[in-house]
Amino acid sequence: MRIEIKKIEEIKNLISGKKIFIFSCDNCGFESFEKKNKEVFFYLAELKTEIVGIYNLTMDKCNVGSLKKIIDEIEDDINRADNILTFTCGGLPQILPNYIKKPVIPATNTLKIEPGRSLGSFARLCSACGECWIYYTGNLCMEKLCPKKMRNGPCGGAEDGICEVYERLCPWVILFRTNRISEEDFLKIIPPKDFSKILLQE
Ligand code: SF4
Ligand code: SF4
Repeated sequence: MRIEIKKIEEIKNLISGKKIFIFSCDNCGFESFEKKNKEVFFYLAELKTEIVGIYNLTMDKCNVGSLKKIIDEIEDDINRADNILTFTCGGLPQILPNYIKKPVIPATNTLKIEPGRSLGSFARLCSACGECWIYYTGNLCMEKLCPKKMRNGPCGGAEDGICEVYERLCPWVILFRTNRISEEDFLKIIPPKDFSKILLQE
């Protein structure tokens, strides 16, 4: 897996408050927890934020059952945070809002996931598009969940909430049913993505 940390300018306006809880992991394109977390600490110092806690998710814990237990264990730290920042692939920040009612912001772009690598982990929710903009769409990834990759609103083809392409709920319907997106965010126009970064990955 290959992941890059986003430029500060991209996320600084998404952060509200100073206290940050971090989810990191060791299997996302970085050599080790230590090396990666050193980069993360520099990054957060530049953001002028305070870290109230950090959790390093290991591969064996990258599943819903484990995550629920982890969140119970670290609940006090999470409660002290204004925002949650993820330094993982784009899968985890899509799952966390189901359990944590605070802004969850991906601080990384996923550039590559090797075939088979995502099996059994949250990485299966990410297509490694190279520009993680799920914060525009209520932390659900339209690259992965919508067959037409509709980032600026639904195509209108769903019937009773079911996608016209696949027999499953349209992610836009999920967003509205669960109030995961505000009207203001829905009305924002998302610019086209630059996919050249992923084309250059070996
Ligand atoms: S937008 Fe989707 S495909 Fe792209 S990095 Fe984020 S989760 Fe992965
Ligand atoms: S119904 Fe929803 S998920 Fe299906 S193609 Fe249209 S917007 Fe995408």
